[in-house]
Amino acid sequence: EHIPVVQLVKSVAARLEKVFKRNISVISDDTNPHVYVYPDALEQLLRIFLDNAYKYSEKDIDVTIKKDTGKITIAIQDYGIGIPNDELDDIFTRFYRVDKARTRKSGGSGLGLSIAKQLAENNDIDIEVKSVIKEGTTFTLIFKEEVRDGEAE
Ligand code: ATP
Repeated sequence: EHIPVVQLVKSVAARLEKVFKRNISVISDDTNPHVYVYPDALEQLLRIFLDNAYKYSEKDIDVTIKKDTGKITIAIQDYGIGIPNDELDDIFTRFYRVDKARTRKSGGSGLGLSIAKQLAENNDIDIEVKSVIKEGTTFTLIFKEEVRDGEAE
């Protein structure tokens, strides 16, 4: 399906802002990029990353939609505890959690990111993660191809 990215991200963010009682700013540079993806899959992906951004940070969350070297990207950025760089690959493994003793607002199973990885693979989306301890984490969804103008309607 052709999905208007900004619109979908904004509606998911608006819903979660109420639940989290925290600001989620959605910033986009391109006018109105469209991608091919199942809307439910993209929505679930966003929820997983936003949920983690909420759990592992106390601050507001930034979502940035861009066209980066021809590809549409959605970056979910938090300003929280961060993830040790040598564990960045492991966090996508089922049941893996960085530190079971970490203070958290709600319990987790360690399944969220493994589901995200599967969903992304099924929908031809790459996931990139960058993190700095005590500064925060950014997960970026990278879509293989944008729907070209004219195809979008
Ligand atoms: P749930 O399945 O409920 O989401 P979870 O958060 O433990 O539980 P994942 O979403 O799979 O599981 O994340 C795996 C681990 O990666 C987490 O336990 C946490 O240690 C780390 N992690 C994920 N996202 C972040 C983030 N934004 N900031 C810091 N650590 C994170």
